[in-house]
Amino acid sequence: MHTRDYQALDRAHYLHPFTDFKALGEEGSRIIEHAEGVYIHDSEGNRILDGMAGLWCVNLGYGREELVAAATEQMRQLPYYNSFFKTAHPPAVKLAETLCRLAPAHVNHVFFTGSGSEANDTVLRMVRRYWALKGQPDKQWVIGRKNAYHGSTVAGVSLGGMAPMHAQGGPLVPKIAHVRQPYWFGEGRSGEGRSGEGRTAGQDPEAFGRECAAALEAKIQELGEENVAAFIAEPVQGAGGAIIPPESYWPAVKAVLAKYDILLVVDEVICGFGRLGEWFGSVHYGLEPDLMPIAKGLSSGYLPIGGVLVGDRVAETLIEEGGEFFHGFTYSGHPVCAAVAQRNLELLEAEGLVDRVRDEIGPYLASRWKALEAHPLVGEARSLGLIGALELVDPATGERFAESRGVGTLCRDLCFAGGLVMRSVGDTMIISPPLVISRDEIDELIDKARAALDATLARLA
Ligand code: PLP
Repeated sequence: MHTRDYQALDRAHYLHPFTDFKALGEEGSRIIEHAEGVYIHDSEGNRILDGMAGLWCVNLGYGREELVAAATEQMRQLPYYNSFFKTAHPPAVKLAETLCRLAPAHVNHVFFTGSGSEANDTVLRMVRRYWALKGQPDKQWVIGRKNAYHGSTVAGVSLGGMAPMHAQGGPLVPKIAHVRQPYWFGEGRSGEGRSGEGRTAGQDPEAFGRECAAALEAKIQELGEENVAAFIAEPVQGAGGAIIPPESYWPAVKAVLAKYDILLVVDEVICGFGRLGEWFGSVHYGLEPDLMPIAKGLSSGYLPIGGVLVGDRVAETLIEEGGEFFHGFTYSGHPVCAAVAQRNLELLEAEGLVDRVRDEIGPYLASRWKALEAHPLVGEARSLGLIGALELVDPATGERFAESRGVGTLCRDLCFAGGLVMRSVGDTMIISPPLVISRDEIDELIDKARAALDATLARLA
């Protein structure tokens, strides 16, 4: 079959995630056929540097035979069994132990799911159940952040703060509120910040971070502390635009949550498994979350698996006082997915890839990435570990382009055409490459990103 044959079948039958079906019909999909290391290959023979590690997940890079072997062996041994009704199997038990060893000391239990969205559904049920068991059944409100992404199930959409998602397919899960994101660059640019609440002129980032935490406190007071169960956030907001908070933000948020006895849920679906140079983003920021949803890098995306790491406070209550928790998925702790995840974690550990992000390749990326700020289209270049963002601005004014010009989408398409996958969130260009990326490959990424910026600028002229 040729590209056009795949495209015809695709157009005829395949409803893609997050896609305008009609627009896709006109353009046709790019067909990705195989991959190795940090490169994907399409059906036209193009080799493309995957600056997004798939969807922020292929941490170990493509083509790792060790994971293929782990899957094959486990499929032969036991392709499926569940963990309902007092059964278990070696791969899930081993993976639970490994995860709890890698997690912060106060985390000693995990509940497995098939995805990050299911993990966040589990979170919502767990936090409400926890407070009910604690004799505080009114503590039901969960506070998330505007523009956050926590998944596409109804609970995931509700916990997330993506306005376009909220506008479709409602109603949402009740008793979920959203507060502003600590988006220093984006907020306050000509009042065009995505959450519409800008930093004030002349304010420094640390004061801004504290102000965002104060907005959380104000929301808790508005809802009544006796009604608020939990706050959910990513350490660094990924799909919302690689929002790296000012250093003041997390300590101030921690203090607010402690003051009102509210659970902290840290969504580690993107930041977990080395992305920020620690096993968990929570470790980077010194957080002690009660619950940590995980997925993606857990198996480097080779097979679907997620889970919720549960801190002792919640675990003890659920175990000692909860009785049966009526919750679970057919594929919770799926043996083949668990075996692949286990091998993936072993390899990340054995190859020292997490430390490498913190001590070597993350700082190297940071130095090369920051230099892109000299480009006339770039208002800010920021990164932490192996996550980075470029804020595109009009060189004439230093302000945002009008949304209708679709500059970010143009830049993304030119990137792809030039052999690099970057993602656009509005006019924010994002990278999140595999952790195995070499210095030479980072140089290539930077060169291709710069070429795409030049090409974008030329088109705008
Ligand atoms: N949480 C975060 C932070 C995510 O980025 C995602 C997916 O991008 C999810 C949850 C949902 O995960 P999944 O797509 O596996 O359901």
